Amino acid sequence: MQTIYDFSLANAEKMLAEHGQKPYRAKQLYSWLYRKRVQSFDEMSDLPAALTEALRNEYCIMPVRLLDKQVAKDRTAKYLFELSDGATIETVLMHFNFGKSVCVSTQVGCNMGCAFCASGLLKKQRDLTAGEIVGQIMYIQKELDPQGERVDNVVVMGTGEPFDNYDNVMEFCSVINSDHGLSIGARHITISTCGIVPKIREFAQGHYQYNLAVSLHAPDDELRRTLMPVDRAYPLDELMDALKAYSEENHRRLTFEYILLKGVNDSDRHAEELADLIRGMNAYVNLIPYNAVDENGYQTTDERTALRFYDVIMKNGVKATLRSRHGDDIDAACGQLRARHERNRQ
Ligand code: SAH
Repeated sequence: MQTIYDFSLANAEKMLAEHGQKPYRAKQLYSWLYRKRVQSFDEMSDLPAALTEALRNEYCIMPVRLLDKQVAKDRTAKYLFELSDGATIETVLMHFNFGKSVCVSTQVGCNMGCAFCASGLLKKQRDLTAGEIVGQIMYIQKELDPQGERVDNVVVMGTGEPFDNYDNVMEFCSVINSDHGLSIGARHITISTCGIVPKIREFAQGHYQYNLAVSLHAPDDELRRTLMPVDRAYPLDELMDALKAYSEENHRRLTFEYILLKGVNDSDRHAEELADLIRGMNAYVNLIPYNAVDENGYQTTDERTALRFYDVIMKNGVKATLRSRHGDDIDAACGQLRARHERNRQ
């Protein structure tokens, strides 16, 4: 059954018009779903009874069911959810001093095939609908409600390639960003892509205020290709051109993500080349400690080398941050919990 969370406010108006309803009903519906956060249509007491009955027959509300939850010492929580067709996805809640961030998945599995990533261990089965992504936020928001806490930030960095499911991801962002709904500010929403150039160009044309992050992981095509097959379709010069166009068009600061892999992409030469690639752009580099995945043999760069890498980039005129680790003691790497669960199922 389709979830009612699938509808942006504009599409909810259209759907309700088909039920003979005026546009203001969509705002009432949104208020029940995202402000009061009810889980049954029967509670929507200011909607006509015939409408709530029709909605109940056509739609469910919560599209995810909790199968497993792991909580790390630093309170990072990883959720394994089941969808209505039995597919499983992962979502992560992180507690930062600047607020609570939820990392959502956008696909069941992933086809991008990055060599270091656990998500690609299981090929893409399907895209998530907008509402299945919204559901991940709503499940966690409802868990936070009794403490009076809220989801402050959303990162679209879980399993899947958001720009390989572009329309649903943009619809999802519209739902959580809506002033009549959860009202999560656009600047508190970050979409991370491995670099699908035509979609970056389309995104740039949309003039959204969401943050864009790009997974780079290597400063040259030769190395990047061994880590990220997407580089063969969209090499670095095309990627950087599209990103420069995005930056100029939107006046938004870009984030480049760079996982430090021991002995692979973490030398001084790599840092210098990385700085050369990015210098002059309105962008900074987020250096990410690698969460080792048993299946592929890559290792984490040690802290000293990571700090040195950071220094070389900064000295070469590019801003960087060295991210601290979260959820180290659980299956924190993208797709790890799900991969283990699916293996146990077989
Ligand atoms: N497909 C999108 C979003 C999902 S991956 C993208 O590629 O950006 C989100 C980020 O996590 C990417 O930067 C990805 O390269 C990184 N990542 C994947 N596996 C990781 C691991 N084991 N440890 C640390 N980061 C990882």
